[in-house]
Formats: sequence, structure tokens, C-alpha cells
Amino acid sequence: VNDEKIALVTGANKGIGFAVAQGLGAIGFRVAVGARDDARREESVERLRAAGVDAFGVALDVTSDDSAAAAAATVEQEAGRLDVLVNNAGIAGRTDGGAQDPTTLDLDVLRTVLETNVFGVVRVTNAMLPLLRRSSSPRIVNVSSNMGSLALRTGPVMAAYAPSKTMLNSVTAQYARRFADTDVIVNACCPGYVATDFTGFAGPRTPEQGAAIAIRLATLPDDGPRGGFFDDEGVVPW
Ligand code: NDP
Repeated sequence: VNDEKIALVTGANKGIGFAVAQGLGAIGFRVAVGARDDARREESVERLRAAGVDAFGVALDVTSDDSAAAAAATVEQEAGRLDVLVNNAGIAGRTDGGAQDPTTLDLDVLRTVLETNVFGVVRVTNAMLPLLRRSSSPRIVNVSSNMGSLALRTGPVMAAYAPSKTMLNSVTAQYARRFADTDVIVNACCPGYVATDFTGFAGPRTPEQGAAIAIRLATLPDDGPRGGFFDDEGVVPW
């Protein structure tokens, strides 16, 4: 009997996503490395395998319906089901020339950021749902940001990125309500300010530290919280 659990992490080729993949692998998950670039994905799979993780690559551009459908087919072929989906892939969007100043907001930047950070999560989640429903303990984790919190009002003015994460939290709550009478548990998390390409390696936290809350939510017990927004300290107001 193969009871190894299967996790798909989007944007797993670097940063927090790679650390989530490595962390889940370290606790016994078989990890599907979702990444859009073939070379970067293969390199990550090799690095994870070298670290002892049972990893396989899944071509996935979260902005493409066809890619999400093909990724689901790949996971089905490789593993037959999915236990955990970590929607980690995300972008900040361009900030040059006032592109994310609300008064000069570049609508193409807004569209692009929403396409990845929000539509991408819905697209991939819905493509993977048939596989998640085959799990005895399906978990979905959406990697959000406290910059999307209306309650905290934290971070710089980022009129595309911040609202994308506000909407992601709201979408997460909608999924949780929809899944209330099922065993699918969905939550959102904030990794904190992490040193990755995303932040120009400015954040004080390591990718491993940023990954910890996503891993915790990916491994919640059956009576765990649903539809919430969490960081290492607990519930984040949003
Ligand atoms: P990185 O830029 O290091 O990594 C982002 C990952 O997302 C990369 O693997 C990238 O792939 C992937 N990605 C982007 N667009 C797509 C796409 N269309 N399809 C598939 N993959 C895609 O960022 P972080 O690791 O820092 O960020 C991960 C998540 O954490 C994001 O959702 C971000 O918003 C969130 N976050 C990060 C914080 C931080 O301080 N770093 C703080 C709060 C939230 P590729 O290499 O191909 O570009």
C-alpha cells in the first residue's frame, strides 16, 4: 500500500515555493514541482531529489487554462490523486513610472497581477479539484500577503499587488464556504517579509521561515480551521 501523500506546489522552482516543496518533501510528501520554465523546473527537481525529496516536475503556467488542464493530467498520470495544493505562484507586478500608484495605475499591470495572483489560483484550484476530491484529507493553501489586509494597512502603496491579495483572501473565504460540508480544507497564509527575488532579497526572513506557515496549513488535522488567513503568530486580521 502506497500511502505517501502527494502535494503540488505552484511556482516551486525558487523562493518560498521551493522551500515549501522541500519542507513537504522532508516530512514524507511526494512533491509535484509546478513551474512554467522547463529548465528552471528540471533544475529544481534535481535539487530536491539531491536533498532526498521524492519530486517530479509538472509544467504549469498559472495564467493558462490549457497549461492548468495539462498539469492536472500530468499529476493524474504520475500520482492518480492530489492531497495538497499550495497556490504559491505570484508576482508583484511592475512598479516603475508610477505603475502601481493608484492615481497613475497602469491597467495592464493591474490585469497582469490579477491574472496570476487571483485568476491563476482559481484556475489551478478548479483544474486540480477532481484530483483533490480523491484524497481522504484534501488541503489547499493560498499564499497571500499581509499587504492585502485592509485591517493592517501595511506596506508601501501597491495598487495592483495589494488588492490582488485582498481578493485572494476573499476568494479563499468563498471556497471555504463552498467546501463547508466536505473534507476539503482551504486557508490563506502570509509568509512574512522573506528574502527572495520577489523582494530583491531584502526581507529578513529565510524562504524556509516563510514556508513554515504554508506547510502547517497543508498538514492541518481534519478539525483544523477553514477559510482563515494565518501567519506564524496565528490569525491575521484582514
Ligand atoms: P519569487 O519571485 O522568488 O517566486 C515566485 C514564483 O512564482 C517563481 O517560481 C515564479 O516562476 C512563479 N510564477 C510567477 N508567475 C507564474 C506563472 N504565471 N506560472 C507559474 N509560476 C509563476 O517570490 P516569493 O517566493 O517571494 O513569493 C512566493 C509567494 O509569496 C507569492 O505569491 C508572493 O506574493 C508571496 N509573498 C512573498 C513575500 C516575500 O516577502 N517574499 C511576502 C508576502 C507574500 P518563474 O521563476 O518562472 O518566474
